[in-house]
Amino acid sequence: MTKTALITGITGQDGYYLSHLLLNRNYRVVGLIPPHREPNLAKLGSLADKVEIYTVDLKDSTALLTAVEQLRPQEIYNLAAPSFVPDSWKDPLGTLDLITGTATRFLEAVRQVGLSTRFYQASSSEMFGDVSCSPQDENTPFRPKNPYAAAKLHAHWTMVHHRQRYGLFACSGILYNHESPLRPPQFVTRKISLAAASIKLGLTNTLEIGNLDAKRDWGFAGDYVEAMWRMLQVDEPEEYVIGTGKLHSVRDLVAAAFDCVGLDWRQYVVINTSLLRPDEHFQLVANPSKAKNKLGWQTQVSFEQLLEKMVLTDLQRLQSGMTTPAISPQRG
Ligand code: NAP
Repeated sequence: MTKTALITGITGQDGYYLSHLLLNRNYRVVGLIPPHREPNLAKLGSLADKVEIYTVDLKDSTALLTAVEQLRPQEIYNLAAPSFVPDSWKDPLGTLDLITGTATRFLEAVRQVGLSTRFYQASSSEMFGDVSCSPQDENTPFRPKNPYAAAKLHAHWTMVHHRQRYGLFACSGILYNHESPLRPPQFVTRKISLAAASIKLGLTNTLEIGNLDAKRDWGFAGDYVEAMWRMLQVDEPEEYVIGTGKLHSVRDLVAAAFDCVGLDWRQYVVINTSLLRPDEHFQLVANPSKAKNKLGWQTQVSFEQLLEKMVLTDLQRLQSGMTTPAISPQRG
């Protein structure tokens, strides 16, 4: 039987990679898109013809209930979110409404329709926030530090409560930073890959960075959607921390990216302290042992391979006159 998977946030980075994975596994893939965001379907590139699109207001409980009733999905992946964390300070209420509201409306819809649909919630390592120990695992206390993280945590607990109270198959991945050629340029990884490619082509000659010593756990998005899918294939719904378990600094990012184009980053990087973020000294790094043991999941793409994918794709884009990530990225 062909399984149906509903995806919110299908036009985002993870939506792209997850759709690709599910189509390869013979799923019927349906993206739920709010009416005014339909132009962003162009971001799906060649996948746009292979997925079905259902236009629905994610803030409308009745519309979501109807979508679940009509489409009768075996799996729901709730990925939609304004994912650039600093922006959540500009619209805390809108962030809460979309992230927490959509998760709650879906869980209620699944409960009311009475299907055995399996539900995945896109939780975030940002929920750990002001961490007091490293690495973090599924038992680490949550201490969110921004509206995005607080909204994600509310959605996360709502999912846990619906599972406990109603026995729904609901789970979440607490994902650390994951990147790809589809990352928008405001994220530091893509900012760096784009700068390395631009400098190589002589289009610019500097890259401004706030803090070279800031550290994160960065992985490849294609690996992380595999973890999402695996969470919905096991017998018990649970939470899983998903990350590489390795910390890298922004300096490592810059060095790896410029290495890909044969340049010495020290000649091009300029420190701009106005770009410093207040909470960059906290070290968020995953202990993904549970995912390894229970899901058999581990990363396939190394830090250096990730940067190479990003830089080479940006080189190709710039050489063909494209600047936005609206094309199929290199996979592998
Ligand atoms: P992304 O590339 O920014 O994609 C976000 C998706 O959400 C897009 O489809 C976007 O639609 C949609 N969206 C944003 N604001 C919306 C709104 N107000 N109404 C309806 N849809 C909206 O994010 P991603 O990297 O794929 O991440 C997927 C999920 O994982 C998100 O929930 C994110 O918070 C979470 N997460 C990501 C990371 C990471 O490092 N990537 C880590 C932990 C958790 P448009 O295309 O129309 O803008």
